[in-house]
Amino acid sequence: MSATSAFTEFVQPQMGRVFTALGLDVEYERAEGNTLYHRDDQGELVPVLDLMGGYGSLILGHNHPEIVAHAKELLDQNRAVHAQFSLRGEAGRLGAALSDVVRRETGIKEPYLATFGNSGAEAVEAAVKHAELVRVTKAAALAEEIAAHLEAARDAVRSGAATVDPDAHQLPALQGQAAPAAGIEGLLAAIGAHNAAVLTTKPLFLALERSFHGKLVGSVQLTYNAGFRTPFQNLGTRVRFVPMDRPELLDRIAEDERVVLLDTELADGRVRVVERDFPAITAFMVEPVQGEGGIHALTAEQGRAIRLFCNKVGTALIIDEVQSGMGRCGAFLASSLIGLRGDYYTLSKSLGGGLAKVSAMLVRRSLYQGEFDLIHSSTFAMDDFSSSIARKVVEMLEADDGRVYRQVTERGERLVEMLADLKSAYPDVIEEIRGKGLFVGVQLRDQGEARSMVLRGSAYTGALGYLLSGYLLRQERIRIAPTGSAGNVLRIQPSAHLTDEEIERLRGALDRLCRILRYEDTLHLVHP
Ligand code: PMP
Repeated sequence: MSATSAFTEFVQPQMGRVFTALGLDVEYERAEGNTLYHRDDQGELVPVLDLMGGYGSLILGHNHPEIVAHAKELLDQNRAVHAQFSLRGEAGRLGAALSDVVRRETGIKEPYLATFGNSGAEAVEAAVKHAELVRVTKAAALAEEIAAHLEAARDAVRSGAATVDPDAHQLPALQGQAAPAAGIEGLLAAIGAHNAAVLTTKPLFLALERSFHGKLVGSVQLTYNAGFRTPFQNLGTRVRFVPMDRPELLDRIAEDERVVLLDTELADGRVRVVERDFPAITAFMVEPVQGEGGIHALTAEQGRAIRLFCNKVGTALIIDEVQSGMGRCGAFLASSLIGLRGDYYTLSKSLGGGLAKVSAMLVRRSLYQGEFDLIHSSTFAMDDFSSSIARKVVEMLEADDGRVYRQVTERGERLVEMLADLKSAYPDVIEEIRGKGLFVGVQLRDQGEARSMVLRGSAYTGALGYLLSGYLLRQERIRIAPTGSAGNVLRIQPSAHLTDEEIERLRGALDRLCRILRYEDTLHLVHP
């Protein structure tokens, strides 16, 4: 049985058939830099220019010689890899390195603590859980403080030192309650009923429309794509999605979502009722450059509005840099390029250097909850092999005063220049070129009105990008995929070592592709 048919029969039946239908049914056996190799029918190795870059996990390319050498050295030394429940030296050194880089780049003085995981979605979920732990801890402290005030009010009235303010029941929050019993006991019972209901409200998370934060039970709730999310929406978290380009809506959300606990205040022999803001929003989760949603970068102004909102309502800002971070956009953190500072950062993808599966959730030290050490863990997290590879990657990115970041910026500009040339030659085919550094999207015009049934059909099913990916692989030996949730955006995420020749190869291939689309010469797209 060939690997392809075993994959289709035992692993992914549907995707296996899709790959076959589109001509993407190849098995790669070797990889170096920006090149993957598969065998043709004669058994010859066929090189393919890989511009998908492991869904953005290969900023240093496939099998970078220095990373491979480092991995071999670790294995040759029989290094302890699974020494759980001990002082994990490699994880510690990686945590320190990540904290230093974040502080260097953002200018934030406070160190960050790292919680390690095995995938991007896991880092997102660690951030979600940690932020919720902070919120419930805050809520419990507030409830305790209020309980003490209510007790003091009761004592003061009973001892005759104070009386209940005649307007005490007038607060809007008490209006829905049954007619209150007179006196302090009636008031305290009404406040108690209101507060008990508030304390059990489900927390709210905010995320941006078009967001992608993963596909695990928790993270998929924060992922905008309805196809991925809705089958599981009853499992989890309450999320409100905010359009990226309408930051003015944030004020309204702050107002809509404001929840208050009631407290009493004793002054001048009177017991008054006052409102205390309840922490109802756990966190705001943002990608500084949305990837799967079609490569959309947050502007500095949008970032500022989000940061201000979080400060105002006292909620945490989680910056998901799983795809945009680790040098992808020309800096360690894409958010640093727009001056946006997070309480949390999530990292993964290129952190593993193309060999290890590793992710990190970073949180400001002053927010860190000690018990999180124990209540969030995984057998494989913090393993010495992945941690050591990840530290090597961080060292390589930071070497020579950030040479890799400069290289990504320069290569990205060169790539975008070429794509812009194509866009001006084919404005009828290419709608927009977007992105930052080597995180680039080519948005194609909708083909819903095309005369060709092939194009119209693929536009209708959202499969245009996949059809073109199959064509580019078969005819041009170039590997490009559309973004996960926007099928008409081709993602281009090569390594920092992208050469001029590779850019020119892509130019030639896309030029031929644009011509096919312009003249609706679609037989070329579907011919084997
Ligand atoms: N967050 C972002 C921004 C991502 O792009 C992704 C993956 N595309 C994830 C989270 C989830 O990462 P993983 O696939 O490793 O779970």
